[in-house]
Amino acid sequence: RQKKNENKKRCLEKHYPKYLPTASVIICFHNEEFNALFRTVSSVMNLTPHYILEEIILVDDMSEFDDLKEKLDYHLEVFRGKIKLIRNKKREGLIRARLIGASRASGDVLVFLDSHCEVNRVWLEPLLFAISKDPKVVVCPLIDVINDTTLEYTPSPVVRGAFNWKLQFKWDNVLSYEMEGPEGPTGPIRSPAMAGGIFAIQRKYFNEIGQYDKGMYLWGGENLELSLRIWMCGGQLFIIPCSRVGHISKQHIQNNFRFMQSLRYNNLRLVHVWLDEYKEQFFLQGPGLKSMNYGNISERVELRKRLGCKSFQWYLDTVFPELE
Ligand code: UDP
Ligand code: MN
Repeated sequence: RQKKNENKKRCLEKHYPKYLPTASVIICFHNEEFNALFRTVSSVMNLTPHYILEEIILVDDMSEFDDLKEKLDYHLEVFRGKIKLIRNKKREGLIRARLIGASRASGDVLVFLDSHCEVNRVWLEPLLFAISKDPKVVVCPLIDVINDTTLEYTPSPVVRGAFNWKLQFKWDNVLSYEMEGPEGPTGPIRSPAMAGGIFAIQRKYFNEIGQYDKGMYLWGGENLELSLRIWMCGGQLFIIPCSRVGHISKQHIQNNFRFMQSLRYNNLRLVHVWLDEYKEQFFLQGPGLKSMNYGNISERVELRKRLGCKSFQWYLDTVFPELE
């Protein structure tokens, strides 16, 4: 606890320049609890200095809940001016929904959040500052856990994002030498992967490196695809421990057949575009995966060529040697 408080103090002592890039915060939702969504929006509105907050873009991915209709419009009125609400005409899935939000953004930086988050004081400044120093840096806050029944808020230790050969995401302890820089455990942590929908990226850079794979379905896999693409194509991915965002983690995913199906499909697309000869490692994890359909990936293969991206071997050697 003492160490935690010490880090908190060091974070609060940091100063950020007055002139930072502006941010468009993009929040997609499908059948979100009204209060969870509203807390996400109001925490951003209340805890972000308005001169760096260009706008909040909400993308309703065809929700069915009644209170996400007129009631939501009505309650968002108090934030009028800063909020754009887009209603998808059909269910797009979170990947295309985020792209729809991004296409309407005008801030310098895109900041993606899930619809059940709670940001903290000085959450955005550290992210924007890192990007202002190097536009090819993509950054994630440390994600604290909010319990989905009690809403208890538990700060996370400093971790980084990793995965296994099944492409299952996991958190990894940070090697102590990674925290030996001048900023100690409050400096940026190199991360092989990002967890999912909570990160910041310069808008121009997001477009340059190919946004997301539009051929991906509903949910899943996009976080690892983007992580590999960032590292292999000349960018870098960091976790910024002084930026903290709470996230309600729900257990529903593993039980949802449609989500699992789309995760598998999306992972296959990733594997065939980015894993080179190491795709065999992935196929060893599940018989039958090798012969499964993954749609047309020629555009993504072309993108990889056009960007002159490095090999997966390079990624393993340089970024993630711990992947056995
Ligand atoms: N989402 C969406 N359309 C979908 C599925 C999800 O807009 O078809 C939204 C969802 O409401 C949430 C975000 O995408 O705000 C990430 O989904 P989720 O929280 O289920 O992912 P997890 O946090 O479990 O990885
Ligand atoms: Mn979530």
